[in-house]
Amino acid sequence: MKKLNPTFKFKNISLYLFIVFTAFVLIGCTGANQKSSEEFIGVSEKPDSVNIFNQKTASVLGEEKEEEIVEENQALTQELRVHFIDLGQADSVLIQQGNEFMLIDGGNNEDSELLVSYLKEQGVNHIKYLIATHPHEDHIGGLDAVINAFNIEKLIMPNITHNTRTFEDLLLAVQKKNLKITAPKVGDSYELGEGNWTILAPYPKEYEDLNNYSVVISYAYGSHTFLFTGDAEKEAEFDMLKENVANPEIFKADVLKVGHHGSSSSTSLEFLDAVSPSFAVISVGAQNDYNHPHEETIKRLQERNIEILRTDLNGNIIFFSDGKELTYITGKKADVTKKTTIDKLPERAIIISHLDKKEETVTVQNCSNQDLDLSDWYLLSVTGNQKFIFPDGYILKAASSVVIASGDSKGDLHWTAKNVWNNSKSDPAELYDNMGNLIYRWND
Ligand SMILES: [Zn+2]
Repeated sequence: MKKLNPTFKFKNISLYLFIVFTAFVLIGCTGANQKSSEEFIGVSEKPDSVNIFNQKTASVLGEEKEEEIVEENQALTQELRVHFIDLGQADSVLIQQGNEFMLIDGGNNEDSELLVSYLKEQGVNHIKYLIATHPHEDHIGGLDAVINAFNIEKLIMPNITHNTRTFEDLLLAVQKKNLKITAPKVGDSYELGEGNWTILAPYPKEYEDLNNYSVVISYAYGSHTFLFTGDAEKEAEFDMLKENVANPEIFKADVLKVGHHGSSSSTSLEFLDAVSPSFAVISVGAQNDYNHPHEETIKRLQERNIEILRTDLNGNIIFFSDGKELTYITGKKADVTKKTTIDKLPERAIIISHLDKKEETVTVQNCSNQDLDLSDWYLLSVTGNQKFIFPDGYILKAASSVVIASGDSKGDLHWTAKNVWNNSKSDPAELYDNMGNLIYRWND
């Protein structure tokens, strides 16, 4: 895995231009005697030329042109967000297009509260489509809670039963809300916002393993496609390929939700080559009992240079698409509702500019030309394992710095009455943002 820590990829050209225009401001701050962390927020995607042109015209032309730009930007606000929610050894994917939501699976029973609160944080009230891919607990465990908490327009589940308490709970919730269950039919297509999705499996046949009844769907928005495979195993994959020999392109996707938590019993070479994704997302718990993801699966993906993202290593994984550009953020606390600050930060926008362990002061400097809200950001003394959380609503003004003092020292903000820094050993200082991303490290 290349990325063990939360990362951020800039979403659009305006941010790119922001970096270009603010570069001169940053030069002063890059003179600090510390290198920025490897994990620093990075720009990964080059903006497309059409957008650059539009931005430029906006700045040099009159009002008439600006109106056009505004219109275009409005069209792009219908952003697609696809959340692979980190619920440990379980699956749950939230798709948001415009104001419409769709949920595929709902984690384990124990994830119910976390899942419901995550959905609420994303502004979910009404779920247009709820899909229970198959009746295993790690897919339907939290769905009774979801059904109880939100309005559900359409529930899709394969036509099989499972003799477990979890499955019964789901049926009870369905009954209580008077919901109708729709059986998936291959080829059926539905709209979600400005995109649409199609059912690719299961085919109407008998399988020994419940996993192979998984509802497999493909969601397309603009030039991007996501393929969600539940826990479908090779047998189901081969059936899908066999039934579509004439048009295997229906499986092509930019992002593949890897089948069955990365088990080697899924993701056959044939299927993987038909999908040919750029990104593979594995929804998996750390140190799970099944040894998922299996090495063979990882190897198959790596051999094809497919970028792998895993919920056990990356936390939540959220993709964004405006129909043309595909980007993502990850993090244990990655949450689009909290990403506004980091969204606008160019590289080295904020640094630790000084640490005086004897004086018990650490200086954080805002090198950018915008005020930054540091609510819930925090500093760590790595060796001493002490944490300072910036007060809620704390704003660090553009091009200014703040001294955080501990012990008897005086500063703008006070950490604690105790001495924090270890003077006999190395004690680096680290600055984290409100999503838990490491922003800057002062090596000591
Ligand atoms: Zn599963």
